[in-house]
Amino acid sequence: MPEPVADLHLHTNYSDGTETPERLVELAKQAGLSAMAITDHDNMDAIAIAAPMAQRHGIELIPGVEMSASAEGLEVHLLGFFLDVTHVGLQQHMAEQKARRVERIHEMVGRLQKIGVKIEADEVLQLAGQGTVGRPHVARTLLKHGYISTFPEAFTKYIGPDNPGFVPGSPLLPARIIRVILDAGGVPVLAHPIYLKRDELIDQFVKDGLAGLEVYHSGHPPDVVRRYEAIADRLRLLRSGGSDFHGDSKEGLPVGAVKVPYALVEALKQWKCSRHG
Ligand code: AMP
Ligand code: ZN
Ligand code: FE
Ligand code: FE
Repeated sequence: MPEPVADLHLHTNYSDGTETPERLVELAKQAGLSAMAITDHDNMDAIAIAAPMAQRHGIELIPGVEMSASAEGLEVHLLGFFLDVTHVGLQQHMAEQKARRVERIHEMVGRLQKIGVKIEADEVLQLAGQGTVGRPHVARTLLKHGYISTFPEAFTKYIGPDNPGFVPGSPLLPARIIRVILDAGGVPVLAHPIYLKRDELIDQFVKDGLAGLEVYHSGHPPDVVRRYEAIADRLRLLRSGGSDFHGDSKEGLPVGAVKVPYALVEALKQWKCSRHG
């Protein structure tokens, strides 16, 4: 028997991924996963939709989420695992963030229009449909209208941190997001620390209640993985990992591109049991 493996960072079209929840489960099955976590941005609606398909395929579906915060002007992404989807505080937080994201799109499109980019907020919002809207929906709209020729170009020319169309994401502190995740019975994990580029901030997040670090990620080359393994050991943090699959938005990156041993899932569960009972 091969060792069971999991991909703990996956997006669906309930946020900025392009695959449906059901299709994501099928891709996970093809990738040979025993467990998968759906971690849409500020949205957990895909979990219930994917659940019957996961059950049919014998895949353990872990309820997850990815939430945005900001620290010292930098964007911080926090993953939550094993949360209680019905928790009122969690639901309220996600509803607030969803509304804030819509406002942000209007602001971004307004800024782009000022520099002569003729796209409409309604088109971006329609792309997101029932899910949470984000910058990748703006990128896809720019691509469709020929303002860019590749998806990543959107983030270097129009909507990246140094570009004219950029509007920062959530202004909330990581401590606040960690609290939301803990209150909902979840396990808070710092996502893709490489993008934060400030390892020293992790110590503060641990004081705020952070439980784990996403050591394994499609954006982490081997030397970076070793660095975060060492930091996780030093700070006694759980380790998680996943592909950060977004479908067509990140071309060529398949579900299961980053797999972790199922033992890491067990460790996350154990942490939840000892903390939340
Ligand atoms: P948002 O939450 O609206 O700020 O959008 C963040 C998402 O945009 C991330 O989860 C990525 O999927 C995507 N993204 C951010 N930066 C880049 C980039 N440089 N290239 C491609 N996708 C990116
Ligand atoms: Zn995303
Ligand atoms: Fe992220
Ligand atoms: Fe992500």
